[in-house]
Amino acid sequence: MRVIRSIKLMQKWALHALSQGQTIGFVPTMGALHEGHLSLIKQCRRENDFVVVSIFVNPKQFSINEDFSRYPRQERKDQSLAKKAQTDVLFCPSVEEMYPRDYLTVINIPRISEQLCGKSRPGHFQGVATVVLKLIHIVIPDILYLGQKDAQQVLVIRQMINDLNCPIKIKQCKTMRASDGLALSSRNSYLTETQRKEAVILFQSLNQSKKMILEGERDIKKMIHITSEAIQTKTSGRVDYIEFLDADTFKPLTNNFKNILITIAVYFGKTRLIDNIILRSR
Ligand code: AMP
Repeated sequence: MRVIRSIKLMQKWALHALSQGQTIGFVPTMGALHEGHLSLIKQCRRENDFVVVSIFVNPKQFSINEDFSRYPRQERKDQSLAKKAQTDVLFCPSVEEMYPRDYLTVINIPRISEQLCGKSRPGHFQGVATVVLKLIHIVIPDILYLGQKDAQQVLVIRQMINDLNCPIKIKQCKTMRASDGLALSSRNSYLTETQRKEAVILFQSLNQSKKMILEGERDIKKMIHITSEAIQTKTSGRVDYIEFLDADTFKPLTNNFKNILITIAVYFGKTRLIDNIILRSR
């Protein structure tokens, strides 16, 4: 596995691979790799000639009062995990090279960036879209691998790729979970022992909502109320949102209740956890 830090070198490597007719699969991450990231890398490995993984804690997607400086960083361990998963290139650019002093450009995808996580994290998806577009121009991949856990991120990036005619495919990979159901996340390491135990309520709430829908419940307000009440009474968690939306457009559900995204965000202390499930009718 090669570790590349320079943008120029990364581009040169990618252009050479493409000139040889090889395909490049790309997994962008912020590091602190866990089984969720590794599942993306493994799928990428199966489907491409080359696997590029990036590790870049992107300051532009954190607001001033968020956790940029304390976000977990473990480059040595990440290198060994990425190598074990048969990554060809680990791209680790510096903040200074990604955003030099005279840097100006921002990618804004309105409306879909402003709902759900965008409400409590204004500017977050601008930061995400901006860095992903930069990384796409640097790594020049054929396929981009993204996790369903960050479903809104996938929606925003898909919109950008379509709008800007980027010749790239997106693969959305399923969410990897701990044995109790909690979605794996680098931010789980912030949780106290008690919060960690309580955090399983996110997945339980999603399953409870799914059950209500499968049993024929169609009153979304009622389902949101029941779920929020359960979280608030059983745990120390503070609900940011629970929503039932069309899984493809993230618009309010129409009457047919076909492809449904149930999505949730809950604060435990300062730590904000997200999760979602998608119900697709055949
Ligand atoms: P992050 O390092 O948190 O920016 O995540 C990098 C990529 O890994 C994103 O596409 C995430 O959606 C994906 N990812 C994060 N957690 C999981 C998980 N538990 N299962 C599958 N993919 C995940």
